Amino acid sequence: MTYIGAHMSSAGGFYKMARKAAAIGANTCQFFCRNPRGSRAKALDPEDLDQCRAFLAENAFGVVVGHAPYIMNPCARDEGIRALAAEMMAGDLALMEHLPGNCYVFHPGSHVGQGVETGCRLIADMLNAVLRPEQQTTVLLETMVGKGSEIGGRFEELRMILEQVKVPERMGVCMDTCHMSDAGYDIVHDLDGVLAEFDRIVGLDWVKAVHINDSLHPTGAKKDRHARIGEGTLGSGTILRVLTHPRLRHLPFLLETPNDDAGHGQEIAMLRVQLETERKENQNKGWEETI
Ligand code: FE
Ligand code: FE
Ligand code: ZN
Repeated sequence: MTYIGAHMSSAGGFYKMARKAAAIGANTCQFFCRNPRGSRAKALDPEDLDQCRAFLAENAFGVVVGHAPYIMNPCARDEGIRALAAEMMAGDLALMEHLPGNCYVFHPGSHVGQGVETGCRLIADMLNAVLRPEQQTTVLLETMVGKGSEIGGRFEELRMILEQVKVPERMGVCMDTCHMSDAGYDIVHDLDGVLAEFDRIVGLDWVKAVHINDSLHPTGAKKDRHARIGEGTLGSGTILRVLTHPRLRHLPFLLETPNDDAGHGQEIAMLRVQLETERKENQNKGWEETI
């Protein structure tokens, strides 16, 4: 079973979101825990979250992923902005505990001239202040394109953060195919080489989710403009190789492509057809070999 889903709006509640996800053929999904561009969170609705949790279980969903707001910068220069980041993450994690066993992903942030080492230390400081060993949510660092002073464009930076976290068992990484390519990792021509490099520097066991996005720009462009699958520089062949990679294929795959729910549903259907075609081809190859 391959877990494929998309980023969905939770504006109408989490139960409604889960039903919408199932309706477009998804068996995982991602959502913002609060307004992505603001810091305010709606009051938590435990009943809605309980219904969502029950629905996800009944419909055999894989791990789902909450996403932090974009404005969060845990390695800002300003202490107040860093404190706000910690506050937002703590609030989001309190929400995620109502959906136990899932993941929460955040963009590591921008060090705004303080340097990579200071940035990574500040990010780890925040995680050490917020993470609880008993929590049931795994917190993921997202791989970024590394534009400006953005942290997370290099695998070494992710390692530098993870090394300093005191509760590593509650931590992981979310790969983003558009971001990795834009950051300069050539997953089109050498996915195996890139994954081997990640394994050597960070370790593939840390990867708990993957954002599957095509990219409008070539490898190394550092632009971060997502494209629909097959309409960018990665192509559906690259995405298919990611979905079927032996070290990744058990993970939840989330589309963050420029599409509405219906469009995401079409992308999911297309990917499932391609997966099935490939499975049959491999089966036939297997037959030929045994004959
Ligand atoms: Fe993201
Ligand atoms: Fe992403
Ligand atoms: Zn992006």
